[in-house]
Amino acid sequence: MRKPLMRIPFTELLPPPVIIPSSAKTLPSAVAALTQFFTSPPPRGLPPASGTVVLSGAGLSVASGLADYRGTNGTYRVNKTYRPIYYHEFLSNHEARKRYWARSFLGWTTLHKSQPNAGHYAVRDLGQLGIISSVITQNVDSFHTKAHPHIPTLELHGYLRSTVCTSCWNEFPRDAFQNELARLNPKWAEFLAEAIASGALDTEDPHEKRARGIRLNPDGDVELPEAPYTTFRYPACPTCLTSPPSLADGTRGTVEVDHDGAWKSPSNAGILKPAVVMFGESIRNEVKTAAEEAIDGAGRLLVLATSLATYSAWRLAKRAKDRGMSIAIVNIGGVRGEDTFFGGLDPHQGGGQGVRVELPTDALLPALVEELRRSGVRGTAQRAKFQPATMPAGDNGAAVFKDMLS
Ligand SMILES: [Zn+2]
Repeated sequence: MRKPLMRIPFTELLPPPVIIPSSAKTLPSAVAALTQFFTSPPPRGLPPASGTVVLSGAGLSVASGLADYRGTNGTYRVNKTYRPIYYHEFLSNHEARKRYWARSFLGWTTLHKSQPNAGHYAVRDLGQLGIISSVITQNVDSFHTKAHPHIPTLELHGYLRSTVCTSCWNEFPRDAFQNELARLNPKWAEFLAEAIASGALDTEDPHEKRARGIRLNPDGDVELPEAPYTTFRYPACPTCLTSPPSLADGTRGTVEVDHDGAWKSPSNAGILKPAVVMFGESIRNEVKTAAEEAIDGAGRLLVLATSLATYSAWRLAKRAKDRGMSIAIVNIGGVRGEDTFFGGLDPHQGGGQGVRVELPTDALLPALVEELRRSGVRGTAQRAKFQPATMPAGDNGAAVFKDMLS
């Protein structure tokens, strides 16, 4: 396989955090620090009624049974050879797409069954308390939108619940696509049914999963050593199949399928991809702008369960810092350049100016909600105005956003 052009940022462990305030090492003291964070007036120059924007990452879904990337049991830790598929590879290589969809086919059932956890529901409760105005997530699992459909949520890197055509940019539900994959790949469907029946996909214990030769990654795919990926078939975009699209050079695209409806060579259009921003792909300008507006409309930033290793997330946190917003980071393990976010804090502050704690979100956030309710704290956050992103994939007109070149 061709050597990747871009390297994955920060796959080695980041330096451990300095806890802020230094007392916030236990659950009650972390709750106390975050209570101060949310009840202190926003720094000077920011509107007093402005709420908090959340920026979340893969660690938030660990309690839902998904692996994160850089945590202790994260994908990059446990499987040193893991690398996600690159956008250019997906677009240009039929074999790579077979492999991608085969793994995704096996992973979908588990992902689809997975549910938001106590951390996501605590975010909903913080929204109801008037503390959180909007959420920006890097996660593609749709847990935020499931847990709190009423808080505006921007899915920075897209979502797995849809596929999108790379020619006509129409979106299709991933659920129906799964049925098509099962129809086109009966042997794989049989294997999947057996794996489900044996419970091999049910365990949330990463060691157990590995022992059974199966591992669910945060991208919703499954690793299966020695699988005959090359036999896997996937459908073409139904819209482009009916009316072949124009290509960038002005010629008419070719979309051909086999007798069952599977995409085949020499087709050069009608390729469906997951509606996520793949490695090396651009984030749409509208999504980038909406994320910046969510930061600009808030007085505080709450970073949840991400190491901010991808530049798209890090630059949003940096933007918050540059605006003078107070920042709280809840993450197990180090965060990219985290000194940047806590420079200039009064060493005696108790959390009002900034917080850095290292506790699991599914334990800490519900405890925080309980404390805020007990003490009758209510925020005045106005819900952010932006609408949830619809179709984040695509590169038509988007600025090239070389997320992974850092
Ligand atoms: Zn299409």
